[in-house]
Amino acid sequence: MRTLKPLIVILLICACTSAKKLPQEQYYAFKYYFVQEQRNDSVLFYLKNPIKCPINIQLAKDNLNSDLHSYFGQINLQAMQDTIIRINYPKFNLSSKSKYIVRYGDANQKIKKNVIAFPFPQGKTYKVMQGYNGKFSHNTLYSKYAIDFNLQVGDTIASADKGYVVGVIEDYKEYDTSKAWRDNDKSNYITLYHPHSGLFTQYVHLNYKGALVELGDFIETGQPIGISGMTGFTTKPHLHFNVKYPTSEHGLISTEITFENDLSGNDLKKGDFVKNL
Ligand SMILES: [Zn+2]
Repeated sequence: MRTLKPLIVILLICACTSAKKLPQEQYYAFKYYFVQEQRNDSVLFYLKNPIKCPINIQLAKDNLNSDLHSYFGQINLQAMQDTIIRINYPKFNLSSKSKYIVRYGDANQKIKKNVIAFPFPQGKTYKVMQGYNGKFSHNTLYSKYAIDFNLQVGDTIASADKGYVVGVIEDYKEYDTSKAWRDNDKSNYITLYHPHSGLFTQYVHLNYKGALVELGDFIETGQPIGISGMTGFTTKPHLHFNVKYPTSEHGLISTEITFENDLSGNDLKKGDFVKNL
């Protein structure tokens, strides 16, 4: 004999927190304009690197031209370099426009680490809010050696090393702490490239229109480059500072660094105060 099990109805009460909708706009660190053209049995790609660091270009998979991306492979262009790639591909289907995957850096470039300055002006003291391998958000390949300093909204961000401005995003206005914002971050940030080391540095959560520099500018160590803020995935105002190097598989990934006065980034723990002497 069959017994009827009581039906348990679980009422899910929507815990609607303050989660905001992600901004509709998408801003990019830099813009590129590549052109493709079909000529006889070939496809031609006119590629130009618009910024002052190497970039790596791949083609995204395309259903109508299913193996074109494998013929294209990975193209490295040096700073401001342009090139034309010709691929023999008689079956090219024009109705599909190629999408590109463009990443910072040339993974073959040898990295020569040097000591760097703190990313805020001389004489200033800030507290470390999260260090290497921080549980809150410094736990991926892209963020695990980042350091959060407690800069307040309006404080000055300074360059940690000399180099070129290769990315500026400054048009976001909002922040949120929900998962969607973590996975699809809408932060304002500046990316610098340091040719002498091959490293990149990133300064994240800038104020709306908080960049003091433009793409292509050459920056000296300690130069003011931006105004700190609270945009993207964050719970408090702070500067998320990250040093990165390029890989062919994952693009830019986070790496350890030593600051001036031989202070290793690894020694900076949550709650420590750091003065830029
Ligand atoms: Zn951070």
